[in-house]
Amino acid sequence: MNKAFASQADLEDKKVSFTRLSDNAYAYTAEGDPNTGVVIGDDAVMVIDTQATPVMAQDVIRRIRNVTDKPIKVVVLSHYHAVRVLGASAYQADHIIASRDTYDLIVERGEQDKASEIGRFPRLFSNVETVPPGMTWPTMTFTGKMTLWLGQLEVQLLQLGRGHTQGDTVVWLPQERTLLSGDLVEFDATPYAGDAYFKDWPKTLENVAALKPLALVPGRGPALVGEQRVQEGLSSTAGFIADVRASVEAGVAVGKDLNAVYKETFAKLKPKYGHWVIFDHCMPFDVTRCFDEVTQYPDPRIWTAQRDIEMWTVLEG
Ligand SMILES: [Zn+2]
Repeated sequence: MNKAFASQADLEDKKVSFTRLSDNAYAYTAEGDPNTGVVIGDDAVMVIDTQATPVMAQDVIRRIRNVTDKPIKVVVLSHYHAVRVLGASAYQADHIIASRDTYDLIVERGEQDKASEIGRFPRLFSNVETVPPGMTWPTMTFTGKMTLWLGQLEVQLLQLGRGHTQGDTVVWLPQERTLLSGDLVEFDATPYAGDAYFKDWPKTLENVAALKPLALVPGRGPALVGEQRVQEGLSSTAGFIADVRASVEAGVAVGKDLNAVYKETFAKLKPKYGHWVIFDHCMPFDVTRCFDEVTQYPDPRIWTAQRDIEMWTVLEG
């Protein structure tokens, strides 16, 4: 039997956890579904990645209200993917902050990405009709580094290099050495690399490691507490990216086409990573993007709902 497209057959709800990581940081995690980070400062709350719809964001707000009455003033988008940004309107924050690179990607491909992502994973877009029409626009952008002070609490927004996307931003609390990584780091979850820079991603993870975080909220999977767990998350993510790239490069070097490279890479990686959530969903996109990068496309091509299905039919049909 053919595999159902992407995650259209994934219908089972996940259990949500809301965990305190340090004095000021909380992780909203859901067994491999997209995570949200929460930073509670002296006078305001910051939310990092919003969930996919306003109705889903309401569950984050409910949990924030269990621990603080402070206003939610800032939303940070770690990158442009719809599943991260379309819940933003629920928070009614004063500011939505993203890197300039992320802003530019929303301009260039936001509409196509929205249609594509909703088609790939309907369960993750519960009550999608509550998403306002159009795009979620940042109200403030930065390049490289931006520092916010939530009272006495220093919060740094950092671009440490390209990886999951061109615009990746991490949120770093230097006083408590806590990091919210977005999809640059995953744990027990397959990194989605359909819009990635395979050559840059490992170096970017080295830059994350150089901060020596004591706690890390990955894009998917459980919060990682303690230097050893953080290191496990960084090295397993880097290992997956390196393994995909090595397999694709080896296939391209001997003149294999995308279909052959895909089948070979899937078979090689399945025993090692097949237990990670969304492995079957991500692999066709990841290998296609890596093949593109190794051959003729330094920058990720735009995924559309139609291109998604065409690719899937070729590789899995
Ligand atoms: Zn993403």
